[in-house]
Amino acid sequence: MRYVVNTHHHGDHSGSNPGFLPIAEVIAHKNARENMIRGNQDGLPRVVYNNETSVFLGGIEVQVFHLGRGHTNGDSVVYFPDLKTYTVGIYFMELRHSLIMVMAEPVVVGLAL
Ligand SMILES: [Zn+2]
Repeated sequence: MRYVVNTHHHGDHSGSNPGFLPIAEVIAHKNARENMIRGNQDGLPRVVYNNETSVFLGGIEVQVFHLGRGHTNGDSVVYFPDLKTYTVGIYFMELRHSLIMVMAEPVVVGLAL
C-alpha cells in the first residue's frame, strides 16, 4: 500500500492514519486536515489538495476531488477513470441522488476507503 485517501476527517475514516503513515502517503482535502488539527487527531495527512489532485500508479490515473460540502466540509471522492468507478466515501449518504446526477456516469459505491 502506497497511498491512503481519507474521504473525510472522522475517526472511522482517518483513525488508522498513524498505522498507515510509516508505509503510505495519506491524502485528504485541506479542510479534512484542518478539522483533524482542530480535533487533536493523530496521523495528519501529509498531502492535501484544494479542488482536485491525481495520483498515477503504474500509468493508471486515480483522481481525488472535492465536490463541496457533503457529510463534512472536507469530503473527498475518488475516481478511477479507466474503470469508470467512483468511491464516494460517505458523500453518497449525504447527497444521495444529486451526486449520481452530477457525475452522470455509472457509479460503484465504496463506503469505506
Ligand atoms: Zn463521518
